[in-house]
Amino acid sequence: MNDDLKALIRTIPDFPKPGIQFRDITTLLLDPAGFATTIERMAAAAIGPIDLVAGIEARGFLFAAALALPLRAGVLLIRKDGKLPGATIAEDYTLEYGEDRIVMHEDALVPGQRVLLVDDLIATGGTARAAVRLLRKAGAAVEQAQFVVDLPDLGGAETVRADGVRVDSLIQFAGH
Ligand code: AMP
Repeated sequence: MNDDLKALIRTIPDFPKPGIQFRDITTLLLDPAGFATTIERMAAAAIGPIDLVAGIEARGFLFAAALALPLRAGVLLIRKDGKLPGATIAEDYTLEYGEDRIVMHEDALVPGQRVLLVDDLIATGGTARAAVRLLRKAGAAVEQAQFVVDLPDLGGAETVRADGVRVDSLIQFAGH
């Protein structure tokens, strides 16, 4: 399924550290038909109506913004701490080594708005789960998350599903 798109994703071994197979979506973005088809298939899988597409910094922004256009939705930015100019709310999450924090503008959404979460890739799901918690803290209805790539052996998509969110991805890679 979606083997045409999978062929456009480049794998870089041992980046950013030994043992990681980095699934590089920049080669997909460079392909006009491939990028357009990616967005068309994500739009077809979206369960509407959707008020806002929330993208996770930074690669998630690219897919979130493009997907928001056919869905006639707005774009909400989920960023690393210290980048947004207005008052923010934050959510912390655990990484393999240490902690990280994501933030959004506290007034970015009206409670009850339907938000579709988007990122380029889900691995352990730590980032996506924190994003769901953050959006829900702001009052969003988060019923679906979409990723271009899932690494199912890491189990991240299952953890997000366990939080009551439908998870869809176009492409899966076995292993890490
Ligand atoms: P996680 O929180 O473990 O689900 O990691 C998700 C985030 O890390 C996403 O924003 C991805 O862009 C990035 N990421 C994690 N693993 C990879 C990988 N193997 N290739 C490319 N990006 C990755």
